[in-house]
Amino acid sequence: MKILSMDDRLAKNRFDSDDHNPHIIIDKEACKTCDHKACTFCCPAERYKWDAQKDKFSFDHVGCLECGNCRYVCERLYRSMTGYSWNYPSQGKGIIFREG
Ligand code: SF4
Ligand code: SF4
Repeated sequence: MKILSMDDRLAKNRFDSDDHNPHIIIDKEACKTCDHKACTFCCPAERYKWDAQKDKFSFDHVGCLECGNCRYVCERLYRSMTGYSWNYPSQGKGIIFREG
């Protein structure tokens, strides 16, 4: 049985992303100073990525499953600190589950 990549698995759902109004906002430069980077471990859709060798932090709100995990493990998101916010997508936007 072929093991699907995360992107292949996410492609089984449909996303109507609101590119002008992303529902999760982070400060990728400031994230480099975060000492735990828990988001990179807790996101089931692997939206947060940290490459220490390249000193590069990346995040993509497209593909977010809206589970809320990152909001609870990240004190900056949880407290809506400057440069950080978490909201559900506006009505009709976001993920449209096709499976499960
Ligand atoms: S846990 Fe929050 S502050 Fe830390 S890297 Fe992730 S999004 Fe950035
Ligand atoms: S809400 Fe869930 S799926 Fe979306 S970015 Fe946060 S942890 Fe990942």
